[in-house]
Amino acid sequence: MSLFVHKYGGTSMGSIERIQNVARRVAKWHAAGHKVVVVPSAMSGETNRLLGLAHELSNQPDGRELDMLSATGEQASSALLAMALQALGVPARSYTGWQVPVKTDSSYTRARIRSIDQAKIRADLDMGKVVVVTGFQGVDDELNITTLGRGGSDTSAVAIAAVLEATECLIYTDVDGVYTTDPRIVSSARRLKVLSFEEMLEMASLGSKVLQIRAVEFAGKYQVPVRVLSSLTEPDIALQDEMASGTLITFEEDHKMESAIVSGIAFSRDEAKMTLLAVPDTPGVAYSILGPVAAANIDVDMIVQNQSVEGMTDFSFTVNRNDAERTYELLKTQVAPAVGAGDVVADDHVCKVSIVGIGMRSHVGVASLMFRTLSEENINIQMISTSEIKTSVVINDKYMELAVRALHKAFELDQEYNQAVGQAIEKSVNNSTNN
Ligand code: ASP
Ligand code: MG
Repeated sequence: MSLFVHKYGGTSMGSIERIQNVARRVAKWHAAGHKVVVVPSAMSGETNRLLGLAHELSNQPDGRELDMLSATGEQASSALLAMALQALGVPARSYTGWQVPVKTDSSYTRARIRSIDQAKIRADLDMGKVVVVTGFQGVDDELNITTLGRGGSDTSAVAIAAVLEATECLIYTDVDGVYTTDPRIVSSARRLKVLSFEEMLEMASLGSKVLQIRAVEFAGKYQVPVRVLSSLTEPDIALQDEMASGTLITFEEDHKMESAIVSGIAFSRDEAKMTLLAVPDTPGVAYSILGPVAAANIDVDMIVQNQSVEGMTDFSFTVNRNDAERTYELLKTQVAPAVGAGDVVADDHVCKVSIVGIGMRSHVGVASLMFRTLSEENINIQMISTSEIKTSVVINDKYMELAVRALHKAFELDQEYNQAVGQAIEKSVNNSTNN
């Protein structure tokens, strides 16, 4: 007998019939003798509907009241799920965040979990009940209701799994796992059976939207095994099959990974590139450019400073596309005059494409196959950044899909890793380094 946390997304909770399906699935786990805590999202569309109402009243609704409002979606779906379970004869009880309590800081609409009291949950589990806990919400020290940011139920589930030391945190969703890349772009994209936590972190932060990034960070910090799996299968498929389905996100040391060099390709269109032209290349120049940007709370991703020619250089960096206008204004009106730059150019027709894989650690030259593949497609690389387990490039966004397809093919991600493929990749890597 083991303890499992199940998380169901808004689509899975989207109608009474679907809630009944969730209840049947949970009942199956319960009947097999497992302890189950279920964390549901609000019914699909509900959070948007509530936030929409708020924005009809005000352009900038008060954060406290927004959380008071949007937390109700999860309260409703949790109660409905508990009733659906009871209707099947399964003892069940639901709790809101403040009842548990799930304690958070006071940053409304993006609060962080500080602690979770497990007493009530444990007591109910020990009495054989299924416990339903609202996702997305918590309570601060002054008993104000808080929410964890959009998609925050993932984080709730992982955090609850962490305190209860659950065997696995199962994230049921409308896709059946994590893919080598978005199957809407590459039809031969393959579901990964296992992915390391570090790879998932890169995939999530690089725009693969299967899991909220903070949930992945939490899973890493507390070493919670997370499985992403489909909620659209028949609720009464064999438990053994369900337990082995989806994608398991786990820790490198405790299992044998598929030993592919590259596991996946992530991409994001949410990018904009800023360039300051003809900046005097003097000590402190990067600081005088990026200091004010950081002070304005704008996240900078990639940074490139060119070789200087006659004491002048170009300085480029990327920001989230949502921050593009704000950044441009700041550079144009304050930074450029202060550092004596020639001009500022903003380009929001860029995207970022990345190859991700822990195998890159032990294989040199993987990036060169990436660069060669892009050059064969005549795609110009504007910026490059690397870490131990990923290489990212910034390119014109009209080539994004082409780049993703070409890279997926070049790294043979449509096939399970086998030695022959690995050798072929290594050979082409070596060829390109010899050229
Ligand atoms: N209901 C919240 C949202 O739509 C939280 C979640 O679904 O994870 O963002
Ligand atoms: Mg979600």
